[in-house]
Amino acid sequence: MKEQLQALESEALAKVETASSLQELQGVRVAYLGKKGPITEVLRGMGKLSAEERPVIGELANKVRGNIAAAIDEKKAGIEAEQLEKQLEEEQIDVTLPGRPVAVGGPHLLTSIVEEIEDLFIGLGFEIREGPEVETDYFNFEALNLPKGHPARDMQDSFYITEDLLLRTHTSPVQARTMNAMENKQPVKMICPGKVYRRDTDDATHSHQFTQIEGLYVDKNVRMSDLKGVLDRFAKHMFGEDREIRLRPSFFPFTEPSVEMDISCKMCNGKGCSVCKRTGWIEILGAGMVHPRVLEMAGYDPKVYSGFAFGMGPERIAMLKYGVDDIRHFYTNDLRFLKQYHKA
Ligand SMILES: [Zn+2]
Repeated sequence: MKEQLQALESEALAKVETASSLQELQGVRVAYLGKKGPITEVLRGMGKLSAEERPVIGELANKVRGNIAAAIDEKKAGIEAEQLEKQLEEEQIDVTLPGRPVAVGGPHLLTSIVEEIEDLFIGLGFEIREGPEVETDYFNFEALNLPKGHPARDMQDSFYITEDLLLRTHTSPVQARTMNAMENKQPVKMICPGKVYRRDTDDATHSHQFTQIEGLYVDKNVRMSDLKGVLDRFAKHMFGEDREIRLRPSFFPFTEPSVEMDISCKMCNGKGCSVCKRTGWIEILGAGMVHPRVLEMAGYDPKVYSGFAFGMGPERIAMLKYGVDDIRHFYTNDLRFLKQYHKA
């Protein structure tokens, strides 16, 4: 029986030695130390032994169990350490490798320009207002002193949806809506940026959809000089402190008098070049004093209130400011174009 135990021990130790995985090791543990294992079997047969032999064999059996268990534990620790080593090796990160660039988005050039203009006017005390892009004939035309039959209402210029609904052709209806909504006819000082639509054929300078920003200031004693001051600040803010402005007489149905504002050409400093068509001036926007009829239709007494309004195209401003030569660049969204204007 003693030899049997010793043979079992060396057999088990050899298997522990050659085990290469934790699973295999667990198999050895179950086979030799389990309840149905050979050592348990030997111990069960101890009843047949003499009183002298029993403690000797019992001690030996426990020793053999202890040796096998210790060998298994030691091997297990070895395998685990090896596995950890291997895992660390495989998951090693080379911190010196260059990283993969993360693509970062940025605001569209047009969005940046609109926000820049908004910031300026907020600083001058103007509110930002918005209105619907599908507009009624009344607010788009009638309330702005463009009665039915007016040449500017030509069907060619507008996208009509029904007889009375159209895609707004300018942001001016927001002025009429804002004045109309004012209770007790308080002063109005706002700008309204937004998309507008005209039946134009798209080319380098025309688009059937473009952006406008309109401004309106109505209060008691608003004068033409106030308009000039605001426009001068705007021109210098957008195009540089050394820009000068000039106002030329013009015509719009909703303002009287009406003006076009030019800025001095930055390219030639007023001397005349191809950009300014040899005039030294570049046309930027239209403006004027709010027509008394428009004030009246919105419920403001033109004898008490006066106001100015202006309207501009952020596309044109961006094109002049950044030398963009085709309005379609704003809408075709070629990333090679857009990324040039992302601010870091
Ligand atoms: Zn010029």
